[in-house]
Amino acid sequence: MQAKTSDKAQKIVVLGTGGTIAGLSTPEKGAGAYVAGQKPIEDLLTGLAIAPALKGLTIQSEQVAQIDSKDMDLPVWQALLRRCRHWLAQADVRGVLITHGTDTLEETAWLLQALLGPLLRELGKPLVLTCAMRPADAPDADGPGNLRDALQVLVDPQARGVLAVCARRVMRAHAVQKVHATRLDAFRSSGRPDAGQLVDDPAGAGGLAVRWSPVTDAQGGAQHAHDVVWPLEAPAGALESALTVSAWPRVELLFSHAAASGAMVHMMCDADLSRQLALPPLRGLVVAATGNGTVHRELEVALERAQARGVRILLATRCTEGGLKAGMRASADEGAGFAATDLSPVKARLSLMLDLLDGH
Ligand code: ASP
Repeated sequence: MQAKTSDKAQKIVVLGTGGTIAGLSTPEKGAGAYVAGQKPIEDLLTGLAIAPALKGLTIQSEQVAQIDSKDMDLPVWQALLRRCRHWLAQADVRGVLITHGTDTLEETAWLLQALLGPLLRELGKPLVLTCAMRPADAPDADGPGNLRDALQVLVDPQARGVLAVCARRVMRAHAVQKVHATRLDAFRSSGRPDAGQLVDDPAGAGGLAVRWSPVTDAQGGAQHAHDVVWPLEAPAGALESALTVSAWPRVELLFSHAAASGAMVHMMCDADLSRQLALPPLRGLVVAATGNGTVHRELEVALERAQARGVRILLATRCTEGGLKAGMRASADEGAGFAATDLSPVKARLSLMLDLLDGH
């Protein structure tokens, strides 16, 4: 039984998955050292200054995982998808907030958008992710501010779809990308404006407000954020399959670069090697291509051979701005050509896995 947002939606659910936002310092290992994923989500919320917009709402928390997000894997994603689907379907839940490590936040955000996008549009509810670059016990921790901002975004009437909030930026799952290894403002919306920004409340009540950027369609026309169906969202049956299978189709990611060879492709396609490593056969390959989707000629020959043997090839650019035009692109040497996507390479990999999962 699923319920749209209504006046009865008086609860916010916060799901903890770990990350630096839940990290604790280990000074015995050196200045600035810490271990991610230590502090329970309940404790992260304790004592948090609650904005006026949240007064009267119940905040319920649940620990879904407690990991460093560099180690994100299938069982955690499946657990997260299940809990998000469960909570979003409750009539009294206004939206779900997830605390997450910064390292793979963009992948989880895209996975959630790809699989839960249709449900979020149907229910008119948002899913927000937030994070931190400093551990929870740092004197100048950025987690509490990001959490407060993310809660503000979550209760904003215009919030729709999967959004990421960090350092006062609000970014859509399709575009969010970690671009800096250490600074607090570590994320950008790749190739497009941020979805919005946290600003001081213009009403001057000491609170915060979200200033949303206009959303435009391909023709430049205004659109409502909740109407946007992002390219390569997963096909309808993919959520059920993603939750039930114990392994998703094997899709690897590699770079095209100067002085490249086909060696990596040959190794990845080698069935004996896959067996020795207890890996399932390769089903797809995403290439982080140079510039506007170009591939080193040595690599291209190997990719064409792999494609002819049934491995799905998908090109994404290794540039952080100006994603490729989605569609088929011709091969330089009259081969079959490869499919291309405007997603970043790591997100393209997820979309290809989901596509293969659904039997394509
Ligand atoms: N390694 C951490 C993680 O992704 C980094 C962070 O959260 O900033 O969990």
